[in-house]
Amino acid sequence: MPASDYWLKDLINDTHRQQKEIPVLFTKKERPTALQIYKWLPGTNCRQCGQLTCLAFTARLLSGENSLADCPPLAEEANSERFNALQGLLGDC
Ligand code: SF4
Repeated sequence: MPASDYWLKDLINDTHRQQKEIPVLFTKKERPTALQIYKWLPGTNCRQCGQLTCLAFTARLLSGENSLADCPPLAEEANSERFNALQGLLGDC
């Protein structure tokens, strides 16, 4: 088996080794709503993400089919506040 096929085993072993350093969260993280996400998108419906509207892109963000990197306008300096807000909302989603 090639070394690259051991990534999951290595990830599990590394996580186990670092278990005492991983902070425990005692509160459940709430999943953001579509409206919370949508309001931070540029709202231009420019279609650069391959979707017809920002709302359609929102649904794909929530389902994990797209990531923030799939919206090119979010990489622009003018949209850095939007990008940071969305990163905070989506976190590990
Ligand atoms: S690329 Fe971004 S701004 Fe353009 S339609 Fe998609 S989500 Fe909206």
